[in-house]
Amino acid sequence: MSEQQTTGAANTVLGTGGLIFNEPLLWEKGKKGRMGMSVPQSDVPAATLDATLEGTEVDFPDLSEVDVVRHYTRLSQWNFGVDSGMYPLGSCTMKYNPKTNERQAATPAIALAHPMLEEGLSQGTLRLLYELQEFLATITGLDAVSLQPAAGAHGELTGMLIFHAYHEHKGHQRHKILIPDTAHGTNPASAALCGYKAVAVKSGPDGMLDPELVASLMDEDTAGIMLTNPNTLGLFEERVREIAEIVHAKGGLVYGDGANMNAVMGVMDAKKCGVDVLHLNLHKTFSTPHGGGGPGAGPVCVTKELEPFLPVPRAVRKGDSYQLEENLPLSVGRVHAFHGNFGVLVKAYSYILTMGAEGLKRASQLAVLNANYIKEQLKDVLHLPYDRPCMHECVFSDQNQQAEKISTLDMAKRLIDYGYHPPTIYFPLVVHGAMMIEPTESECKEDIDQFIATLRTIVQEAKEQPDLLHEAPQRTKVRRLDEVQAARCPCLVGLPSAEDK
Ligand SMILES: *Cc1c(COP(=O)(O)O)cnc(C)c1O
Repeated sequence: MSEQQTTGAANTVLGTGGLIFNEPLLWEKGKKGRMGMSVPQSDVPAATLDATLEGTEVDFPDLSEVDVVRHYTRLSQWNFGVDSGMYPLGSCTMKYNPKTNERQAATPAIALAHPMLEEGLSQGTLRLLYELQEFLATITGLDAVSLQPAAGAHGELTGMLIFHAYHEHKGHQRHKILIPDTAHGTNPASAALCGYKAVAVKSGPDGMLDPELVASLMDEDTAGIMLTNPNTLGLFEERVREIAEIVHAKGGLVYGDGANMNAVMGVMDAKKCGVDVLHLNLHKTFSTPHGGGGPGAGPVCVTKELEPFLPVPRAVRKGDSYQLEENLPLSVGRVHAFHGNFGVLVKAYSYILTMGAEGLKRASQLAVLNANYIKEQLKDVLHLPYDRPCMHECVFSDQNQQAEKISTLDMAKRLIDYGYHPPTIYFPLVVHGAMMIEPTESECKEDIDQFIATLRTIVQEAKEQPDLLHEAPQRTKVRRLDEVQAARCPCLVGLPSAEDK
């Protein structure tokens, strides 16, 4: 096959390739005597090194400034982030994070404030924490907030500890928890960590949870239900209030996984939906870059009734001053050092203030519009298992491509050749061969149209040149990886060059 055939008409689309450099380790690259600076001639007599250091070989490579700058710049180009292009990874809300929020978090007065500084000297940071709690309460409709949890799953665990403390306080511990098959995978893990036995609830043919099924499973040994809304099919649980009533009637609590809040800011009131505890993913919805495993924040929001169980210390306002309250006897205790991941909290605070209430609502509306647009533009070529209005993401499958023996994995890998980060694949588990696309609000119509056109091209290639998909990606640093091997035995000392392949 010619170069043109193997790569497709790539010059007209994103990802034209040709600029992916090989790069050795700094130790392989260094050459004795190179230097990153010009040192003036010495005008003092030479002296021997400290005797304790003598004879110790220091293994540092000698490199010039440009060697080092190119090294790290090339490494950064092997990566792909929201700042490089569209990253429609479903359930992860990989939206653009405005740089002003980074700038606010890096302000020296904020970034250098020591968490052990006494209260009188920390009024600004305490006020920020307090006001962020208030903002998040307003956004969710709930009454009280802890900012400590460091991630979504950590928020879930905190929520389960609150369930546990609540039932303990009521004098009757329970042992089970209902978790729909459309909940996020972290939910059963968090419940299990807290000692609860997860009881699976099957979603209906429309992707919705059926209140009657919940009623048949809910009993007085069940602590409550953990549901994700919008659920992992990108659908809003329409009967959430009925479900909450059923759970409450049997003395249980309702946990709402609010990691998908990007779809419903200013639209959904969690308390009115009957939710007692809900976590937010600030690193998804409220402007912290994520995906590389950096710090996040998963604040937990609760009803008035559950407020006494929140982690301590809590930022509170007493008259004109802000304080940390430690003495809450029913609290589940501390779940993070100091105040949680403070830098992430500052970014969320800055994001909320710069967007305003109307701006946040508009962001959610556009996130939903973009996902529905993609769904409608692709459903004639990709199988859409749940053909109904979606929220922030839409879920397709590879059913239409099965005749050509093309899988979701092949299409995802081919998208890389065209310059896109692939969507989430094979999740949620309720859809066989799932491809879950979350465009977010930050992509403009032209970019979304180009993404749609690219996926349509890939569907066409599947019919006409299936090898292009089976062999994808071709235009990347490494080709298709053995994913099990890559996860179990990661090669951290360097990558094979193209010739080794
Ligand atoms: C991302 C996500 C989580 C987990 O959040 P982490 O911060 O990765 O722990 C939980 N639930 C849902 C619905 C999510 O989308």
